[in-house]
Amino acid sequence: MLYRLKNAGYRACLVGGGVRDLLLGREPKDFDVATDARPEQVRQVFRNCRLIGRRFRLAHVHFGREIIEVATFRSMGDGEQQDQRQVENGMILRDNVYGTIDEDAQRRDFTINALYYDIEDFSVLDYANGMQDLREGRLRLLGDPEQRYREDPVRMLRAVRFAGKLGFLIEEQTEAPIEPLSGLLQEVPSARLYEEVLKLFLGGSALETFEKLRHYGLFSRLFPATEEALSHEEHDFPITFVNRGLSNTDQRIREEKPVTPAFLFAVLLWEPVRRLAGQYMEEGLAAVPALQDAGREVLSAQNQSVSIPKRFGYPMRDIWQLQPRFENRAGKRPQRLITHPKFRAAYDFLLLRAEAGETDSELAAWWTDFQKENASPQPEPTEQKRRRRRRRRRKPDGEDKPVDG
Ligand code: ATP
Ligand code: MG
Repeated sequence: MLYRLKNAGYRACLVGGGVRDLLLGREPKDFDVATDARPEQVRQVFRNCRLIGRRFRLAHVHFGREIIEVATFRSMGDGEQQDQRQVENGMILRDNVYGTIDEDAQRRDFTINALYYDIEDFSVLDYANGMQDLREGRLRLLGDPEQRYREDPVRMLRAVRFAGKLGFLIEEQTEAPIEPLSGLLQEVPSARLYEEVLKLFLGGSALETFEKLRHYGLFSRLFPATEEALSHEEHDFPITFVNRGLSNTDQRIREEKPVTPAFLFAVLLWEPVRRLAGQYMEEGLAAVPALQDAGREVLSAQNQSVSIPKRFGYPMRDIWQLQPRFENRAGKRPQRLITHPKFRAAYDFLLLRAEAGETDSELAAWWTDFQKENASPQPEPTEQKRRRRRRRRRKPDGEDKPVDG
């Protein structure tokens, strides 16, 4: 891959998470390539290539199911070519001024993400003192942190994500502006925040990350209703449902079991849904319609900050609405419930509620036994599993990632 570019006369380096993770002895999630070839030139080298993103133009080179992101070296831009780099209120809306490799290093986010692996001589190029920070376990934003967060507020989330995932400390000056600037997340398109939330919570360190997000006041910007609900205590116990749900997610990822955004968001939004439904029930509504109404309302408010695609919103609401049906164990009802396509997810959700002390553990145990006695539980439809796997591999397209690469 890198050699194809090289043989075509271009410079090509591995950059970003791939280099960082390899140097740390971790398995990289994916590889990013930086080159001096323009996107159109990259396309001429690879037939299996698609150019994506208007704001941040880059090439996706397909190898079977894998996609490698190839970005052209960029600079911060200085006067000329202003139409290629558009900044509004300090926020970068378009970032397509090409430059040299050392300029490219400076516009990246953290020093440890600005290391290049050069295939010319197999060396690691370090324009930003990233090696030292990598050794010392530190996240340091390049340039003036406040300005860099204003350019792209998602960098605040990235700081927390890498800190959680790598167990690194956020350096003081990189850390200080986060809480005061957390409100800038409101300016970020909700679809991009959705992609970031998946990376935050489905990366294997969800619990760590959740606690850090709350610590820096970022969580309330992403999930305002949940933060509100969590500030209440019940029977003098802090609410632990979300914590348990997230540590459960981390465990599933460690065990390489599938995780779906529908379940994740069902966990994250359950507290506000449950509270609102409780209110409706006090006003006389039955459990199922109360959950339906509450679910719809919480979801539509949530979509203002982090928009959840409909294909996950529907199953998420199924998971909630099935909860009261577990309580009804009379006659043929359990038999019928077990055939519901979302039974398995809803049952896992029930277990979580029982663990958190929110519902009777006897009830959860009953359903565990019931499944054992009644043949094997329904597996999730396989078509959906296959689609999810494909989707997880695909990177979010650059359209809503203004300064990514
Ligand atoms: P991982 O892929 O493991 O989540 P990564 O560091 O590779 O981590 P990517 O989102 O794949 O993250 O981005 C690749 C590289 O592009 C980063 O390492 C960084 O150098 C640069 N980059 C990504 N997003 C930004 C951003 N918002 N601002 C500046 N540079 C960025
Ligand atoms: Mg990457």
